[in-house]
Amino acid sequence: MLVGGVGGARFLLGLKAALGLDGRDTATHELTAVVNTGDDIWLHGLRICPDLDTCMYTLGGGIDAERGWGRAGETWVVKAELARYGADPEWFGLGDLDLATHLVRTRMLQAGYPLSAVTAALCDRWQPGVRLLPATDDRCETHVVVADDHAGGKTQGRRAMHFQEWWIRHHARLPAIEFVPVGADTSEPAAGVLDAIAGADAVLLAPSNPVVSIGSVLAVPGIRPALRGAGARVIGLSPIVGGRAVRGMAEACLATIDVPCEAGAVAAHYGARSTGGILDGWLVHMGDRATVPGIEIREIPLLMTDVAATAAMARAALDLALPQ
Ligand code: GDP
Ligand code: CA
Repeated sequence: MLVGGVGGARFLLGLKAALGLDGRDTATHELTAVVNTGDDIWLHGLRICPDLDTCMYTLGGGIDAERGWGRAGETWVVKAELARYGADPEWFGLGDLDLATHLVRTRMLQAGYPLSAVTAALCDRWQPGVRLLPATDDRCETHVVVADDHAGGKTQGRRAMHFQEWWIRHHARLPAIEFVPVGADTSEPAAGVLDAIAGADAVLLAPSNPVVSIGSVLAVPGIRPALRGAGARVIGLSPIVGGRAVRGMAEACLATIDVPCEAGAVAAHYGARSTGGILDGWLVHMGDRATVPGIEIREIPLLMTDVAATAAMARAALDLALPQ
């Protein structure tokens, strides 16, 4: 699976259920998630990996289910103290329980371990039942270029900010001109990513944000060619339902890259493998008619209302991936 944060994690729960990966050793299937690391950021000297943590906490039973991110039963003592010092940034929610994860991660990274090894170590505690791999062990963060109204003079300037600042601080309301994966040129897939894709019986793209989640995974050189060369079929699920993102900022992201906010347009953006793209199949929500030459499209209910509904989506994706 290629996944982002909240949407990806919820889908992983359903796929895990569909495959019977319930934590016991009797499982006959293996699931590897290649997780977006474009959201990752250094704050207060700590390495924060929001999408990896959302997947780890969701699958490990530690997530705040209502919020969709962060720890259940979280407290915010450190955040309040930082605010009293006026320590920037005040807009990023670092909970006390969550901070322990970032402390352990940062300590291991500074001892020289790659992020993939650190993630595996954190997962020893959480036992997600799924192998979580960062897309890359290298620093490759998404930045957002926006118009700078304060540049002065007659010509309007541009400035870039980290994706987290655009999303969390500005709520994706500043029109984005461009998303830039800073560091992508020199990044490589993390250990295990290319082997997982090459060795898979089925490759799925979660209904995650096509631009800043799946798009950021695909920005790591080598991952797109691996999908194109995979022996397995590559099947995606639409995050766009009825012409709208089910939640989050996908609408603003798609507008920036000039892709209409429609399930079929997102499939066309990924492209058919037969015409240089990455998809063999695509699932859209009931009534979201779409045709893209070279992509087998099926309409099924695509709302992840509970684990059972999500597991049904996962089974439909596997049916499309493994034609009998
Ligand atoms: P993020 O990193 O936390 O933004 O999470 P992802 O990128 O993994 O997922 C965000 C995407 O999930 C959004 O574009 C939503 O439209 C999509 N999404 C959320 N809930 C659902 C759902 O129930 N069904 C479908 N099809 N998509 C969903
Ligand atoms: Ca994310």
